[in-house]
Amino acid sequence: MKFVDTHVHWYVEDFRADLPGAIARAQEAGVGRFVLPAVSRATHAPLMRVARDFEGLCFPCVGLHPTEVKDDWRSELAFVEAQLATAPHTFVAIGETGIDAYWSRDFIAAQQVVFEQQLRWSARYDLPVIVHARDAFDIIFNVLEKVHPLPLRGVFHAYSGTAEQFRQLRRYGNFLMGVGGVVTFKKAALAQTVEQTDLCDMVLETDAPWLAPAPFRGKRNESGYIPLIAEKVAALKRCPVEEIAAVTTANAESLFNLT
Ligand SMILES: [Zn+2]
Repeated sequence: MKFVDTHVHWYVEDFRADLPGAIARAQEAGVGRFVLPAVSRATHAPLMRVARDFEGLCFPCVGLHPTEVKDDWRSELAFVEAQLATAPHTFVAIGETGIDAYWSRDFIAAQQVVFEQQLRWSARYDLPVIVHARDAFDIIFNVLEKVHPLPLRGVFHAYSGTAEQFRQLRRYGNFLMGVGGVVTFKKAALAQTVEQTDLCDMVLETDAPWLAPAPFRGKRNESGYIPLIAEKVAALKRCPVEEIAAVTTANAESLFNLT
């Protein structure tokens, strides 16, 4: 079996001491390729360093995360634009972008401008978007409605909505559902969403170092735990884990154009 971790922050401080070891453990678990979502300008250089050090395994993104939209959002966004204009083919996706109304609503208006702009670049540069949506589906739909019918594709990472909301999102683009460790938690609403959603619409992700699956909940997460997520999805979909691996890997390869 081979897997893709479609969302892992290998470049953050948590992995500084043992990144080669963590990547080796992932490879032993069958997880051979990794999509590195961006956060802000401050994390761009470490992200690109990991992508270079592990070329062919780690694939970089560029974008501005909604929780990083603060007073200096205009210059942050200009930085993303400059990266895209200079070398768009360096990146496999734009993101993370989206709306987060959970941590703070202080910059919620700016978050919408920043999200809309990154959706427009996604269409212009023909790159998928990685969307972070937290307590924000109403706002997400408003922004999508604004840019409709722009040709969009991407993933709603750490998906937390219902299956019905996902069907509505699909009206605005070719979007996939990013399923991670939360699906393994007891009484996870996501389990029902996964049951009710076609496997062809899913990719797997860890969001490491955060959101570790059971039995590692609360500990540092890493891509080597992807099979735990796949096993849970297999149980929910009542099909062999090999099928989960094959379908979600093919979905990830085609969305991010991985070779
Ligand atoms: Zn993330």
